[in-house]
Amino acid sequence: MIIQKSTSPRISSFDPENFSFGDTFIDHMFICEYDNEKWGEPRIVPYGPIGFSPAMMGVNYGQACFEGMKAYKDENDDVFLFRPEKNAKRINKSASRLAMPEVPEEIFMKGLQTLIDLDRDWIPKGEGMSLYIRPVIFATEEVLKARISNKYMFAIVATPAKSYYSAPVSVKISDHYSRAANGGVGSAKAAGNYAASFYPTKLANDEGFDQVIWTDDTAHEYFEESGTMNVFVRINDTIYTPKTSEKILDGVTRDSFLKLADKKGIKVIVGDVKVKDVVEAFDNGTLKEVWGVGTAVVTSVFKALGYQDRLLNLPILSETESFALSLKKDLTDIQTNKAEDTFGWRMKVEKNILEEA
Ligand SMILES: *Cc1c(COP(=O)(O)O)cnc(C)c1O
Repeated sequence: MIIQKSTSPRISSFDPENFSFGDTFIDHMFICEYDNEKWGEPRIVPYGPIGFSPAMMGVNYGQACFEGMKAYKDENDDVFLFRPEKNAKRINKSASRLAMPEVPEEIFMKGLQTLIDLDRDWIPKGEGMSLYIRPVIFATEEVLKARISNKYMFAIVATPAKSYYSAPVSVKISDHYSRAANGGVGSAKAAGNYAASFYPTKLANDEGFDQVIWTDDTAHEYFEESGTMNVFVRINDTIYTPKTSEKILDGVTRDSFLKLADKKGIKVIVGDVKVKDVVEAFDNGTLKEVWGVGTAVVTSVFKALGYQDRLLNLPILSETESFALSLKKDLTDIQTNKAEDTFGWRMKVEKNILEEA
């Protein structure tokens, strides 16, 4: 691995109490280029723009996919990743679906750990604080032919993430738009899936909703996901979530919630979640909670569901009554090394990986 350290690091002017998420970047980034049917020498370089032509295939034909993951700092300043091998596998599953080359897991892991170790001072510490990490692969060949690209870039960039209280949100159950289709790319973290979701989300925002609950593209009868999160429904004391499929992304948070719920002795049913059954449970008073899960906010609790011309106002449960919030706490305690890691989910980022590389 080639390491080119920044000669003008910005870390000394970074204020962990006051920064903006998403556009504050750590001093370095990881890049590795694919050409002639192989990945080249991985590099860590100062964070910054790289020049491309508008004819770049990733832009024109959308061969691009990414991951979202976090690093957490505990009280002793030790740094941990959470189930990173899941992201390494998933980016390759996404890449394969988009006819892109897989990144060897060793390049992914080594690049990730070396970058995070080098810029560990950028990881804010404390309740809810973390470093949000974005690995991304995109087609870089500059040729206007609608075919598979021969050149790619794999990059990892990262931005500090704030502790923020995510207020309960209102969501609209989609009765027209869909996020994914059978045979489509819904289970891949394809950049285009996000592009396709923005317009329906904007329409929902205009109606006063924060997010869309995506339903099946056939008859809009089943819950699929919520925004860019997996969705959970609690009726009485049982929780329900759709099973992963070609249309539903296999979320790391979803999988962790299922395992934690099981450990707690909460009854979980993984299978079809019918819109009709959720509305019926609301009407007979057994619908207790609906929430979304994903790396970014861990849990987003819903306060209302918009369904056709109805608005179903959900009860707001206390931290002790809510399964969503108690599972969120169990998960974040493991992520931040406050609880025993019985599942073996944490991966410590060792210090001075660079010197040994
Ligand atoms: C990333 C993503 C999720 C959440 O996955 P996590 O691994 O839990 O972050 C869920 N749904 C969609 C569509 C996503 O893109």
